[in-house]
Amino acid sequence: MVWNPFSRKKPSDFHKNLKAARDVSGGEAFLVQDTRAAIEELSQVVKNDPEAVEIYLALGSLYRSQGEIERAIQIRNSLIVRPGLDREFKARALFELGRDFRRGGFLDRAEKAFEDARANGQDTVAIQHEMARLAAERGVFDKAADAFGQLGLPLPQAHYLVRLAMDYFKEGKESQAHRALRHAIRAYPGAVEAWLEQMIQAYKSGSERRVADTLREALDNVAPDMRFVLLEGMLQAMIKAARAKAKPQGEDTDWTNVCSDKSVVTALLPVIESQEPEVLLLYYGAVFLLRIDDTENAKAWLEKTLVMQSDFWLARLELFELSRSDQTLTPFFKEQLIFFMVRARMVRRFFCRTCGLKRDHLFYNCPRCRSWHSIAFRKDFSQ
Ligand SMILES: [Zn+2]
Repeated sequence: MVWNPFSRKKPSDFHKNLKAARDVSGGEAFLVQDTRAAIEELSQVVKNDPEAVEIYLALGSLYRSQGEIERAIQIRNSLIVRPGLDREFKARALFELGRDFRRGGFLDRAEKAFEDARANGQDTVAIQHEMARLAAERGVFDKAADAFGQLGLPLPQAHYLVRLAMDYFKEGKESQAHRALRHAIRAYPGAVEAWLEQMIQAYKSGSERRVADTLREALDNVAPDMRFVLLEGMLQAMIKAARAKAKPQGEDTDWTNVCSDKSVVTALLPVIESQEPEVLLLYYGAVFLLRIDDTENAKAWLEKTLVMQSDFWLARLELFELSRSDQTLTPFFKEQLIFFMVRARMVRRFFCRTCGLKRDHLFYNCPRCRSWHSIAFRKDFSQ
């Protein structure tokens, strides 16, 4: 018998089954907290009516979201091979199959599935989007940047141009790398990763003037809540350079010619000071001052930070640390205090504004919810 979703004998079954699925999850089939339980229940419902395409596709996607890629793929395949399946449903099943494969890391098979979906009439913009992500995951950054550019998404376009530039730097193709960075900023002036990479390159070449000038220009272009990324990134570069220099064999590395901490901090501080005062700018200013052992000024900057936001725990911690040497403490008290300070420093300082994921390193694309430029600094513990 040729199966046709629009001329089934019992057209009401689909809705009945969907209702049953909703009933088992308190009325919201796809918003339940316990997704796994929903999968089990939906599985039962689908068994009763194997022709319910919508439920079937949704079930596959639930499996995928739970990381059960093999089962998701099985569901799509069982649908695709059904004789007489409507072309539109086949295209959608192929599209979802491509996404399953991508999620499972089978990138070649994902590409093939997307091509088949396109041949069956699946929406080309959605496919182009998936192809762009595939190129990015494969590390083919020029292709990814082009594809996102064509989709009218300048932020990811700029991001992958920066990744391309970093590859060029590694291969020693300096001029191509710098061209890609400029292209990234032209495409999306708020591309904080492009500005940061330019700062780091200036730092590596030993030009503190250029580091400061780039920071000044970057602060004018980057979204206010993303500006701390420039300072955190610069700080991490300085830490990496110090580590590379501390290695016993003094072999040449990328970091051999960097500016001294003193010269770069002296160049950066006036740029930070020229901005409208803001908690994180002040805080990072203090951290830079601490790197060159200017504790008096660091204290003053931290105090200013706390005037602006009294519950900014990290500023308080640094200030506490600075005054610790002035206190006479019993060995027991000192030991407890050090324990808490070490623990406090281990707290993950960044979070995703969209999904709340916490991280201790910078990220540009949330590893969990895939939001772009959603990173924020945890200025208080409740975040
Ligand atoms: Zn997120």
